[in-house]
Amino acid sequence: MKKLLTFLFIALFSCSAEDETNTADAIYFNGNIYTAVDAQPKAGFVAVKGDRIIGVGETSEMIKFQGANTKKIDLNGKTLTPGFIESHAHIMGIGHNELNLDLLNTESYDEILEKVQIAAQNAAPGEWILGRGWHQSKWVNSTDTLIKGFPTHDRLSAVSPDNPVLIWHASGHAALANTKAMELAGVSSINMENQNQLDVEGGEIITDALGNPTGIFNERAMGVVGKVIPANDIARNTKALEMAIKACQRNGITSFHDAGATRESIDLFRSFKNNQQLGIRLYVMVTGFDATLVEEFLESGPTIDSTDHLLTIRSIKLNCDGALGSRGAWLLEPYSDRAGHTGMATLSMDYVADIATKGVDKGFQVCSHAIGDRANREILDRYESAFKAAPEKAKNHRFRIEHAQHISKEDIPRFAALGVIPAMQAIHMSSDRPWAIDRLGKERIEEGAYVWQKLLQSGAVVTNGTDAPVEPLNPIPSFYASVSRKTLKGQPAGGYEPEQKMTRQQALQSYTINAAFAAFEEQDKGSLEIGKLADFTIFDKDIMEVEESEILNAKVTTTVIGGKTVFE
Ligand SMILES: [Zn+2]
Repeated sequence: MKKLLTFLFIALFSCSAEDETNTADAIYFNGNIYTAVDAQPKAGFVAVKGDRIIGVGETSEMIKFQGANTKKIDLNGKTLTPGFIESHAHIMGIGHNELNLDLLNTESYDEILEKVQIAAQNAAPGEWILGRGWHQSKWVNSTDTLIKGFPTHDRLSAVSPDNPVLIWHASGHAALANTKAMELAGVSSINMENQNQLDVEGGEIITDALGNPTGIFNERAMGVVGKVIPANDIARNTKALEMAIKACQRNGITSFHDAGATRESIDLFRSFKNNQQLGIRLYVMVTGFDATLVEEFLESGPTIDSTDHLLTIRSIKLNCDGALGSRGAWLLEPYSDRAGHTGMATLSMDYVADIATKGVDKGFQVCSHAIGDRANREILDRYESAFKAAPEKAKNHRFRIEHAQHISKEDIPRFAALGVIPAMQAIHMSSDRPWAIDRLGKERIEEGAYVWQKLLQSGAVVTNGTDAPVEPLNPIPSFYASVSRKTLKGQPAGGYEPEQKMTRQQALQSYTINAAFAAFEEQDKGSLEIGKLADFTIFDKDIMEVEESEILNAKVTTTVIGGKTVFE
């Protein structure tokens, strides 16, 4: 009897499988499948047809979707989640970083020189050689003379006499230039007599005892050399974008919110899309640094890609204050470690008000960078006025504050109340929290810094990301930071302000469905539900269940975009 029933059961469902609409091209099964849906967080299988999910549920129901040509993909215990969405990063920056010399693991000045020399031999005459990631404290058995703790340019200039070189320190806060680069920047002939040329507000050109520049440009002084580096040409930008797309695929990122694209980047994205080269879904914020471009977009209206879901431009990025490290974040009260100093706005608040009003009117989301509590408040005020002025049009605005790092107690509930999305990067807490307390002091840190759980509890939609290339694009460290509130070295034992930790489900949602919502795309992605795009990230470890410290050892094994495996 039982046999007969089983037979009937299979017969019934094989029947329905013959029905074209229900037959999957592929079924993923036998793994830890997380849907990011609270009502049904786990599933036994997910069935895909074309670029969409057609089935998700208990393993026993899988057979319904199985046809003669269905590919059965055995996950072998691996973990499948909705495709991870990077909510705030810089795609061209990632690409150019990939093109430049990677000096991150160099252990001596000699090793750096060797790499630069090879690059110089392969470079065209006069071509710039750029690199990033060296750190003199990692140099073993170093006999190099250091001035103010940094190496000098002499040996660098010797290995690349004709090609200008600029290599950034791992911290990103200093860079070393060779003679050729300094010549081009007009600082090579400096001596004791024209010391004033060395003055750069907010930065320092380090000199030796004779007053000659050592090649080190600190903080804002990096711009002295940076500004003479020629803009990238199309060939290099194309190569950079190709590299960045590969980096996304390799890191399990299926969608990417580009936080501030220039005109030339947008042109490049369009040509990639037209040539079927855009192997990632891009959600683009137009850079507010180009007011003309912003006006043009406001005039012509958003580009919403509702067919391929590859390139949508419906957002404007504004940069409203600086960073905490350089004390540029705009605070309500002075920095704890610099009396009387509160940082400053980097953009006029009238402009923010103007763009917010126009954004509401023309259907553009506004995404404003704000780190300090004053910047966050001022922007919330401007947004609020714009919403109040046009309540009908503002109904589905989804305006965002990028970073929303330090928020005054009174402003925390305003995000949910106004429907403003805090687009945060958990990894910044991990990297910055150890010293951020010097800037803000204990009370402000505890009350309002990186307050993910307070925001979530109040009903705000919190998104996650890395701000790459500021931090590496890999989402795993940021996921780990979200749930542990520890540094990547696992410090402190219980995590910083542990009550602000996200649960693993919240962290998963911050990287998937919340990010989709923040781009008006929650109908099409962000969770494993029937009808949504088949975008998946597959990990070798169960990031939702393994020991917290094990999360950091997890690796992306496969990335699937629209049903196609783009990385394995
Ligand atoms: Zn950014």
